[in-house]
Amino acid sequence: MSNIKQTEKDVIFQTYKRLPIVIDKSEAVRIWDTDGNIYLDFLAGIAVNALGHSHPKILDAINEQAKKYLHVSNYFYQEAQIKLAKKITEITGYNKVFFSNSGTEATEAAIKLARKWGNPKSKSKIFGFSGGFHGRTYAALSLMDKPNYKNGMEPFLPDNKVIEINNIQQLEENIGDDTCALILEFIQGEGGLNSPSEQFLDKIAELKDKYGFLLIADEVQSGFGRTGKFFAFQHTKIKPDIITMAKGMGGGLPLGGILANNELASLWEPGNHGTTYGGNALACATGYVVVDELEHGLLDHVNNIGEYFHEKLTGIKDKYSDKVIEVRGRGLMKGLLLNFEAAELVSELLKRKVIANAASGNVLRMVPPLIVQKDDIDEFIDKLDESLSAIQNV
Ligand code: PLP
Repeated sequence: MSNIKQTEKDVIFQTYKRLPIVIDKSEAVRIWDTDGNIYLDFLAGIAVNALGHSHPKILDAINEQAKKYLHVSNYFYQEAQIKLAKKITEITGYNKVFFSNSGTEATEAAIKLARKWGNPKSKSKIFGFSGGFHGRTYAALSLMDKPNYKNGMEPFLPDNKVIEINNIQQLEENIGDDTCALILEFIQGEGGLNSPSEQFLDKIAELKDKYGFLLIADEVQSGFGRTGKFFAFQHTKIKPDIITMAKGMGGGLPLGGILANNELASLWEPGNHGTTYGGNALACATGYVVVDELEHGLLDHVNNIGEYFHEKLTGIKDKYSDKVIEVRGRGLMKGLLLNFEAAELVSELLKRKVIANAASGNVLRMVPPLIVQKDDIDEFIDKLDESLSAIQNV
């Protein structure tokens, strides 16, 4: 195709602001474009490619499963699904998995399950938090405050509302006997790597004891080892009732789901919820590889390398204290709060063949593959240093 970027404009809905790169191939933490440029990838398909690009074990799992079958539907028992669900439940201590294809479908499933639980108890109100991101379907959008994603597409679901994160007064004013559920990211991805404060989480726990609502942890971005624990909520004392998962879970193939205990899982009977593709065998086979790697050393690696990355980023913050306000996040889910638009830094990095992205306007988000090595971090930090020094007049 002679002018692929123009053709894209002609034939695809213009809903994405694409980086000016036409991808040729990718491997580990590198991406090649069709002009032969090689990029260091600290975006990882938006926190998806946990094992990097084209990991040999992922490719083997795809090959092995593809030789057996690709898709047969949920009319059948499928070993790949069952193996993965067994592994996830053993690791997390939760009882059951429902598989979806994406994060927003996981949100949708969690909200539907919460409603099924809450309706007989006259608990109808569901709350999200400012800066939260849960996907693009109506249940997700109804619990988000992002006007750009919502404007003109009203009406949204009733009885859903957004509370300001870390505002304890607002929390107390809104939560009551009629509260069905809260949905919370323990580290906000799109929201700029912001986290609920310890006091805020303590208040949620206190109100949960008092009023008995469900807590849904959105672990779509922060789950599957990204923050150094299997789930980000495990850094806190809180135990959510429903967990949403996706992104890193499939290791590059579309896979998502929810996790809950038997009491909640048993509320759904055959037909109550479902999806044609959810739990696709190929995606479950690659998901199994991700979890197996996490169990066998990758989680420790994320903790060690995450600490190293944090130190280096703190050095950058100290050097550029006029431009960098804060280092945020945990493990390999990191953000730099800037006092200027992160898009400017993203484009400086791109000039130096490094890929990262902007979250929430003035935060640079860095979510490299979990297999990233010290040398890659050093290279990233050098390029970040150069990029920050190239930015003037902030
Ligand atoms: N929840 C969180 C925390 C996310 O970061 C995302 C996607 O960025 C979603 C939900 C939605 O996931 P998906 O884009 O797979 O629907």
